[in-house]
Amino acid sequence: MKVQGSCHCGQVTYEAEVDPESAHICNCTDCQMLTGSAFRVTVHAPRPAFRLLSGQPKVYVKIADSGARRRHSFCPNCGTPVHSSADTDDPASYSLRVGCLAQCAQLAPRKRNWLRSSLPWAQNVSSLPANDTQ
Ligand SMILES: [Zn+2]
Ligand SMILES: [Zn+2]
Repeated sequence: MKVQGSCHCGQVTYEAEVDPESAHICNCTDCQMLTGSAFRVTVHAPRPAFRLLSGQPKVYVKIADSGARRRHSFCPNCGTPVHSSADTDDPASYSLRVGCLAQCAQLAPRKRNWLRSSLPWAQNVSSLPANDTQ
C-alpha cells in the first residue's frame, strides 16, 4: 500500500510502500516511553520504497538492555517520530509510525507484541465513556 507521511509541524514529509499485514502494536516499555503513550503502532516499509520528500530527521540511537542498537528518527522541530531502523546507513526496512501516515485508518494492527510489558488498562478501552469534544 502506498502511504504519505508527515510530522506534526510539516517539516518532515515522506512517502513509502508498506505491507499492511505487518502493522502491529508494540507494548514494550521503550515504545511506551518514546511515544509518551501506552503503546506504539508500527508498519514496515522496505527501504527502497521509502522516499524522504522534505526535512532532515534527527536520529537517536536507542540501546536496549540486550545491547541491541536501533536508530530512531524524529522531526528536530516538533519531535514527531518518523521511523526506526537497524543501526546502519543501509537498513533493509524502516518501521514507520502509523499515526503519522495519511492512510492510518486503513492500517489496523494485525498483532500485539511485548504483551508482558503492556499496561493492563491499555488493552481494552472500548468500555470507557466516549467524548468527541476533548
Ligand atoms: Zn515537525
Ligand atoms: Zn516497542
